Amino acid sequence: MSIQTVESRRHRVVVIGSGFGGLFGAQALKRADVDVTLIARTTHHLFQPLLYQVATGILSVGDIAPATRLVLRKQKNTQVLLGDVLEVDLEAKTVTSRLLERETVTEFDSLIVAAGAGQSYFGNDHFAEFAPGMKTIDDALELRGRILGAFEQAELSHDPEERARLLTFVVVGAGPTGVELAGQIAELAHRTLNGAFRSIDSRESRVILLDGAPAVLPVYGGKLSEKAAARLEKLGIEIQLNAMVTDVDVDGLVVKEKDGTERRIDSQCKVWSAGVQASPLGKQLAAQSGAEIDRAGRVHVNPDLSLPGYPNVYVIGDMMSLDNLPGLAQVAMQGGKYAAKQIKATVAGESPETRHPFKYFDKGSMATISRFSAVAKVGKLEISGFIGWVAWLVIHLMYLVGFRSKFSTILSWTVSFLGRGRAQMASTEQQVFARNAIDLLQDYERAKDAGLIGDPLAVSTGEEREKAG
Ligand SMILES: Cc1cc2nc3c(=O)[nH]c(=O)nc-3n(C[C@H](O)[C@H](O)[C@H](O)COP(=O)(O)OP(=O)(O)OC[C@H]3O[C@@H](n4cnc5c(N)ncnc54)[C@H](O)[C@@H]3O)c2cc1C
Repeated sequence: MSIQTVESRRHRVVVIGSGFGGLFGAQALKRADVDVTLIARTTHHLFQPLLYQVATGILSVGDIAPATRLVLRKQKNTQVLLGDVLEVDLEAKTVTSRLLERETVTEFDSLIVAAGAGQSYFGNDHFAEFAPGMKTIDDALELRGRILGAFEQAELSHDPEERARLLTFVVVGAGPTGVELAGQIAELAHRTLNGAFRSIDSRESRVILLDGAPAVLPVYGGKLSEKAAARLEKLGIEIQLNAMVTDVDVDGLVVKEKDGTERRIDSQCKVWSAGVQASPLGKQLAAQSGAEIDRAGRVHVNPDLSLPGYPNVYVIGDMMSLDNLPGLAQVAMQGGKYAAKQIKATVAGESPETRHPFKYFDKGSMATISRFSAVAKVGKLEISGFIGWVAWLVIHLMYLVGFRSKFSTILSWTVSFLGRGRAQMASTEQQVFARNAIDLLQDYERAKDAGLIGDPLAVSTGEEREKAG
């Protein structure tokens, strides 16, 4: 293990995370008289809103995840470090990150923490083994493999019950992500794969969208919610509301109705899009600063997005809790730019007391349901159908980072939405099984470190066998 200190003479800014908050924060410091170090556990900036299109074969990974290092290549005051941040020490002003066995300690004068959020299973983390979420590229590729793999297995099965289980897809959570994913699985079954199998008819697949809430897209409410539900049903999606998932296993899930009765749905391919939990770094920052955290693990920040008692440390995006702001890309991007502005003011000698509070400019939110159909809400204006879909298309293209990504995305959308082809239909065994295999390996490592089990290499050399007699 090596400890390396990154030295610098100018005001040193460390940014944790290369998502919307981190990247936009770092970019806003381009011309500032500071040295920026951006540390993230992934090599890319991920455009999460289009992950579902990677999971359903429309877009490639490269379209939505440009390499952060290349995005920031021309920003000379910025260094990009790959690493998982393990610890932030607010008093020592250091961030400790790890890449494989190498530990790096980076010093800061100002810190922007934008480590985002992960999936929440509301205390039932064991559901994750059978119902993966969709937060990362790995998740999306695994899902693609699981969805396409279910069709492949159904083609080989002669047992009607097994076939029905394989061709039943359940999406848990009827928020924007769940709705978009369910819509695309339905389009995959009804359009793209139609006629591609000989033993099964892909159009006979069931796509079930489940939620414990009483409405689809509850944040949109009223008419938009109803329109979205009607459109989903037209696509053949079964909407099951007021339904709480109480158990998930390899072959299906158990659902509890409002009246307390339980029923089982047999399904091989389940997807979880029902909740979020902020990065555990939030808990660490809260413990050191005395800040409170909410149930989703988000840190209550000051109106200037700083931590109580630490005007040089900003927590932004999905990790912050302020005025009930939603977990949206715009909140993170505007938070990143705002934090950068405060850092520039600090470098210019301004005191934190002179800061104006962060003001979120709500540019609206939107969700697609299928090709040619979306719902959008901008202030009081509600748009749905084709116009909503065109608005969705334009806005998502605008915010995709990089010319190449925009260009290849337009091509892929033309092929998928005007035709019925999808260019990204390959999946590999490793993509499907890697997550659970890695989890097992990590459990094994932890048990080994705790001395509960021996070293497999020792077994192969005979040491362990000798010990065991
Ligand atoms: C599937 C999906 C669809 C979505 N659709 C929409 C949408 O349509 N519209 C919308 O506005 N919002 C949408 N969102 C929400 C939006 O993507 C988030 O609000 C936004 O990404 C938050 O930005 P962030 O910078 O806080 O976190 P993120 O963008 O999640 O970035 C977090 C970064 O931190 C890094 N990181 C995490 N932990 C560590 C660590 N310990 N060490 C180092 N690095 C770390 C990650 O690798 C990542 O680079 C969607 C989210 C998902 C998952």
